[in-house]
Amino acid sequence: MMQQSSYSAPDTSGHFGSYGGKFIPETLVQNAEALLKEYENARQDAAFWDEYNSLLRDYVGRATPLYHAKNLSRTAGGAKIYLKREDLCHTGAHKINNALGQALLARRMGKKRIIAETGAGQHGVATATVCALFDLDCIVYMGEEDMQRQAPNVARMKLLGAEIRAVTSGTRTLKDATSEAIRDWINNPEETFYIIGSVVGMHPYPMMVRDFQSIIGKETREQILEQEGRLPNVITACVGGGSNAIGMFYEFLNDTPQVELVGVEAAGEGLGGLNAASLTLGSTGVLHGAMMKILQDDYGQIKEAHSISAGLDYPGVGPEHCHLQDLGLVSYTSATDEEALQALKTLARTEGIICALESAHAMHYSIKRAAEMDPSEILIVNLSGRGDKDMETIMHHIEIG
Ligand SMILES: *Cc1c(COP(=O)(O)O)cnc(C)c1O
Repeated sequence: MMQQSSYSAPDTSGHFGSYGGKFIPETLVQNAEALLKEYENARQDAAFWDEYNSLLRDYVGRATPLYHAKNLSRTAGGAKIYLKREDLCHTGAHKINNALGQALLARRMGKKRIIAETGAGQHGVATATVCALFDLDCIVYMGEEDMQRQAPNVARMKLLGAEIRAVTSGTRTLKDATSEAIRDWINNPEETFYIIGSVVGMHPYPMMVRDFQSIIGKETREQILEQEGRLPNVITACVGGGSNAIGMFYEFLNDTPQVELVGVEAAGEGLGGLNAASLTLGSTGVLHGAMMKILQDDYGQIKEAHSISAGLDYPGVGPEHCHLQDLGLVSYTSATDEEALQALKTLARTEGIICALESAHAMHYSIKRAAEMDPSEILIVNLSGRGDKDMETIMHHIEIG
């Protein structure tokens, strides 16, 4: 068989096609340069990856299982559905894969003060966790609105020794928390390392976070080849900033179109109402240091995003996804709040697994899609996290009994 031309991005200036780059104030340029240099250095260092991989195994609990969900497959009535169980990672989601890698890098650079932003609180918890492990100071910026929605995660972060700074500007959610964290980094460039939680922000973050999350797809490829002797037909993942999705998709980009890759955004109240479907409805603009597709009005003001899941409630999506959408290597669709809730319930009742509301968006599409496929075909869903943090929201919205 002829070798397909292989996908490669970003270029040396940090661009994924026309997206990405480094739209930052002068005062941050040196910081971003130093980070890139250290990462390039660590990337070539076998000892760095040895330590990372042994912590992934013994601390995070990797490899996570690839589970054949027979009951769910029967209920959907079509393709064999497999779940990649990122919900079983230590701290309950894929976020720790990235937080751990960046904390190792911070230690390598001799930085003792860590800052992070968080929406659902999952990235904040993952960052507070690795800071406890490596004895680093940890400050987490979180929107006031999200602090109310995700109270148990606020308590977790505090217990782990992190300081939480409530953000009261704007919509008091993830976008504003990210802006505050960047502001902190500008004011404290010397001693501070900023651990970003998704494939967003200025170069080299989208590349670096992708590399740390790509363990998801690497394991999945090995596991499906071992269990089924072949690659899947369809792979799905939910898309907020895009880190669990790119982590899953990256290892399969050269297998498209034989392997179809589908990202599922949050349609919130519906595409006509408040939503967070940046790839479906957005247009090109700059947010948090990078060119990407964002939800904006005619004057370039960022629009309010909405999703029932705090982790998808962000008005932009990482530059690599924008590029992959333009190239046609990945397709993107969306699921509403209501559809996600129903899918969450279906998974709970058929498999005894309560997934995160974020993951439930991918679950909705996967159940629908599997039904249209042949029983000999295979669909893999990336189950990005567990639903414990969402119980309060779930109880408000669905009949439990
Ligand atoms: C944060 C989060 C997401 C969304 O972030 P991505 O960067 O798009 O992966 C999805 N699922 C869970 C469980 C999360 O915690």
